[in-house]
Amino acid sequence: MPELPEVEVLVRHLDPVLRNKTIHAVRVRRAKVIAPTSVRALTRALRGAKFAGVSRRGKYLVFDLRTARPARPLMLLGHLGMTGRMYLLPVKSPLPKHAAVILNVGRTNFVFEDTRYFGRLTLDPGAVGRLGPEPLSAQFTVRGFVRALDRSRQPIKVKLLDQSLVAGIGNIYASEALFRAGIAPTLPARELTPAQAARLWRAIRRVLREAIECGSTVPLNYAGAGLRDGLFYFGRAPGTPDFYEERLRVYDRAGRPCYKCGTAIKRLVQAARSTFYCPRCQGGEP
Ligand SMILES: [Zn+2]
Repeated sequence: MPELPEVEVLVRHLDPVLRNKTIHAVRVRRAKVIAPTSVRALTRALRGAKFAGVSRRGKYLVFDLRTARPARPLMLLGHLGMTGRMYLLPVKSPLPKHAAVILNVGRTNFVFEDTRYFGRLTLDPGAVGRLGPEPLSAQFTVRGFVRALDRSRQPIKVKLLDQSLVAGIGNIYASEALFRAGIAPTLPARELTPAQAARLWRAIRRVLREAIECGSTVPLNYAGAGLRDGLFYFGRAPGTPDFYEERLRVYDRAGRPCYKCGTAIKRLVQAARSTFYCPRCQGGEP
């Protein structure tokens, strides 16, 4: 499931190819993914609009558009959900079976494909308003982080998934950051010492930056096949090179030796999601 780094990499690839492109036609094949916007409202708003830029907020893609008449700014919000993909496809290429929304921008179509339809492409900006600070921005401070943790009894791993604490961290990078900070995933958020919280704050930023760097070096295939899969499915897709997985030190490595101490990595279920950790480096044996 894509998290902040994967979305950031996608944004960096989409921005230059969509910027200044005009939307000529809008096709919605799955109304669910544009909710609560209606097909009619989306079509009306987007037809003739021009992409001014693509950016990111948390795990959301933010498409800044400018409508034709009257000329005004418009924000389209995208979320990849579990299986969503966004890419450009030549008009001549057949559309994939699960293409949910298709925006024609001339000789290419901008396709939002989603096999499970948990993703979103909507004009409703509500979701981004509830997000906490961007972890790589100056708004995410050690002091603010410590203060927010002090108010929570939740295990730290579960608390890290709370998008109002910090935006963009999901299951993978929560486990990775805790491993790098040497903190047990089960430790209640309010029980972290100031030194632990500061270590975790640094680990979050480091792990996200490294993932963005790693992803940015890979050429994305806009047809939505090949290497691109590696970014979103972490080596699960056939033919994907192994190095995507290697950069993850604990995630999905249950039973395999810890890179630091050789102890077997453990898997634990917290709030119905898997957590991976090293019982020796991090402690927290349940
Ligand atoms: Zn270890």
